[in-house]
Amino acid sequence: MVKIKSLEEIELMRESALIVSRTLGMLAKEIKPGVTTLHLDRLAETFIRDHGAEPGFLGLYDFPNTLCVSPNEQVVHGIPNDQPLEDGDILSVDCGALKNGFYGDHAYTFEVGTVADETKKLLEVTKKSLYLGIEAFRLGNRVGDLGHAIQTYTESFGYGVVRELVGHGLGTKMHEAPEIPNYGKRGRGKKFINGMVIAIEPMINQGTKKIRHYKDGWTIKTADKRPSAHFEHNVALIDGKPQLLSTFDFIYEALGIPSEEEAPFKKPKTNA
Ligand code: MG
Ligand code: MG
Repeated sequence: MVKIKSLEEIELMRESALIVSRTLGMLAKEIKPGVTTLHLDRLAETFIRDHGAEPGFLGLYDFPNTLCVSPNEQVVHGIPNDQPLEDGDILSVDCGALKNGFYGDHAYTFEVGTVADETKKLLEVTKKSLYLGIEAFRLGNRVGDLGHAIQTYTESFGYGVVRELVGHGLGTKMHEAPEIPNYGKRGRGKKFINGMVIAIEPMINQGTKKIRHYKDGWTIKTADKRPSAHFEHNVALIDGKPQLLSTFDFIYEALGIPSEEEAPFKKPKTNA
């Protein structure tokens, strides 16, 4: 059952999302060749607790850490370890926080040092598809319209859309109904309604859409070992339109990248 949130609850969810956003912004400055993902994990846990929240993933379904860190051919759910990052890697960092009983949950794929142009393109297209998905999250549309927007755009570049992993409703539980696949048919699936809060999270592979599971029981990697990208935002449907609760602005600020991509989805400023 879809749990509709009040505007007050959505503001609490924005608080949780912003803690994750700030955590990813803090990590953006730390992600470079030679750094271990375990180090990043410790920084994130301390940062989240210092901001009055609990790590959202730690202990969830028995996950052992604060961050899911998935380099290169890993799609999602990678476990932090003591292996140093290398120049040319990409690193998907997925992070959750729990505050006031509500979860924030979003992700960004970072470049480590200098990344191949082909891989940069995968990141750019995956991130663009996230915003196309957000654009489709509006009254009158259905879950299939959102998935269709992400799928058609990313497949036009020959990329593979992971089928087994999907976005989701978000609230007092990390994973609520409905499921939000990154593929779909127009006009199919659940109707979007005001007060829905969802995590939209394209997981896009440079090659095949097929995935494999690591023996650790968590990590998912691409079947052909080519890179995979993952970007995730938390979005509320308010007055028929998508409104971002999370932001990549702290990341862009840290990296000195100007970006206007989120402008259409920001909370409108009141003139009061
Ligand atoms: Mg996530
Ligand atoms: Mg998620």
